[in-house]
Amino acid sequence: MFRFARKGAIEYLETEGLSAPGFVTHAFCTRRGGVSTGPYSSLNLGFLAGDRVEDVRRNQTLVEEAFGIPDGRLILMRQVHGDRIRVLDGDGPLPGGLPECDGLISDRPGVALGIRTADCVPIFFVDRVRRIIGAAHAGWRGTALGIAAAMVETLAGRFSSRREDLLAVIGPAIGPCCYQVDAPVFAAFSAMPGTGLFFRPCREKDRWMLDLALANRLQIREAGVPSENIFSAGLCTACRQDLFFSHRAGGGRSGRQINLLMLRAGDDRKNA
Ligand SMILES: [Zn+2]
Repeated sequence: MFRFARKGAIEYLETEGLSAPGFVTHAFCTRRGGVSTGPYSSLNLGFLAGDRVEDVRRNQTLVEEAFGIPDGRLILMRQVHGDRIRVLDGDGPLPGGLPECDGLISDRPGVALGIRTADCVPIFFVDRVRRIIGAAHAGWRGTALGIAAAMVETLAGRFSSRREDLLAVIGPAIGPCCYQVDAPVFAAFSAMPGTGLFFRPCREKDRWMLDLALANRLQIREAGVPSENIFSAGLCTACRQDLFFSHRAGGGRSGRQINLLMLRAGDDRKNA
């Protein structure tokens, strides 16, 4: 069950699936509650989207304050639509600036993992027993490369996570109602099982509607995470521009929402 919540002016989506374990702070933020204007209105966290840098910085500070993220502990990625995953072994920002990757994994309390999206799929992973978190950014390229499965494999291989202990949460992304793709995209998925489920042919030749969230759900299930542990928000960013930034619906000129996940520093800080 997903529901909308707010901290101050920031409105976000959360799920019972991750609130229940009690040791993570998580939020799929909407675009509401920031200071940016125009197409970036208002909680834009994308520095490269064309918005004023000082407004984006202010928005980042607002998010850090709202969710109690310690100074300098919101780890963002230079997302490149690949399948590279970075396992964090420290608490602070990484040397050399933002890591170039599309997946982050951490077992450190008080370190927030952030994914910035505007149609692509944000996915959170939580090992509810070993208390390890992961965040992945999956556009069509990352999905076709299998980044969600790679997250499960990395958790299992590096942290001995049991697949039945993993929770996976798929956030708001462009839906099959709005995401039309062409032949090169369709071809990129040819080796993946279940394409008949997540591609629907359009009336136009060589065009399909792609359900990226479903493709990732199937991939995570295929990687061994039980179906009942996988949650999907089912909200389309392009249909709901009142709530979310959408690259497609915004004609390429839009902000980026932030999706964040953090192990709480103290277990007793319920609802912190
Ligand atoms: Zn839609």
